[in-house]
Amino acid sequence: MELNDVLRLVRKNIINLAPYSTARDEYKGKLGVFLDANENPYENRYNRYPDPRQLELKGIISGFKGVAVENMFIGNGSDEAIDLCYRIFCTPGKDNAVAIAPSYGMYRVAADINDVEVREVQLGADFSLPVKELLAACDENTKLMFICSPNNPSGNSFPMEQMLELVSSFKGMVVVDEAYIDFASQPSLLTVLDSHKNLIILQTLSKAYGLAGLRLGLAFADAEIMSIFAKVKYPYNINLAGMERAKELLARDVKSEIEQLKSERERVAEALAAMPCVEKVFPSDANFLLVRVGDARALYDALINEQVIVRDRSRIKGCEGTLRITLGKPEENDRMLAIVKNWK
Ligand code: PMP
Repeated sequence: MELNDVLRLVRKNIINLAPYSTARDEYKGKLGVFLDANENPYENRYNRYPDPRQLELKGIISGFKGVAVENMFIGNGSDEAIDLCYRIFCTPGKDNAVAIAPSYGMYRVAADINDVEVREVQLGADFSLPVKELLAACDENTKLMFICSPNNPSGNSFPMEQMLELVSSFKGMVVVDEAYIDFASQPSLLTVLDSHKNLIILQTLSKAYGLAGLRLGLAFADAEIMSIFAKVKYPYNINLAGMERAKELLARDVKSEIEQLKSERERVAEALAAMPCVEKVFPSDANFLLVRVGDARALYDALINEQVIVRDRSRIKGCEGTLRITLGKPEENDRMLAIVKNWK
């Protein structure tokens, strides 16, 4: 799709929106006497408003993601970016979105909040991507398609060619949520971002980068699309304390933690698969395992009794009888494994 076709998907009121202009948008210097923003002048480290464009943090992220600052949006978690996709592209009560199922729950919740219909398309056998069915679910009011790869809660990644087939065939925006990409064996779609104007990639600092508490989600897309995100977001959506801590903590190398979690994934999957109560451990490209057991609720309760908390996914269509188990530190995983082993 050409950029002009993509811009035609944006709601008219958003295209025409004159965004709020902050004091810090108008004057970008760092030195001076600041009498422009009605702040308290007495220093306490946080008495000034933060940079609404988050240029310093974006510069750091650009350094390790290899994506230009203009192609980036930082949100209050990737949940903010999901919500913005609906607000930018979908007219409430009229437009719709298509999403894979089972998948991350916020695609539906954010749609419901925005009064946008979501058409969920069940994954195929072994949680495969239903390319034809996804395209068949679209009509002229379908503006967004949500794909999550590696997918939560199934854990698998989808083949790149199949996702790109959707990007080429669908006449709306394809949002590929790569929250777990740093644990995956296949590369990110970031490598093809430049050549696909209707592609939005979501990532997050909450998983592999270990910053869930700071709430920093990322979206990557064409610079024009990202400038629309920038004008619709709350002016100061990322606070100064969070940006400062992120800058410090991103200097840490998380490679060894990721490698450790990946090796725990193999070890724990193997150990679980050998247990009599486990029917199936689904292959995972993420930092969790989806596990089918006989009576998921009873095992969930047995784990809770020992203060081990996992996620019961058994009431989700397509995940009957399953628990989703996040990989922890080796000793935490061992504690979980011992309970599962002695269950029943
Ligand atoms: N996408 C997926 C697939 C997730 O599983 C999650 C969180 N569990 C998110 C996005 C949200 O991440 P964030 O913390 O960046 O809001």
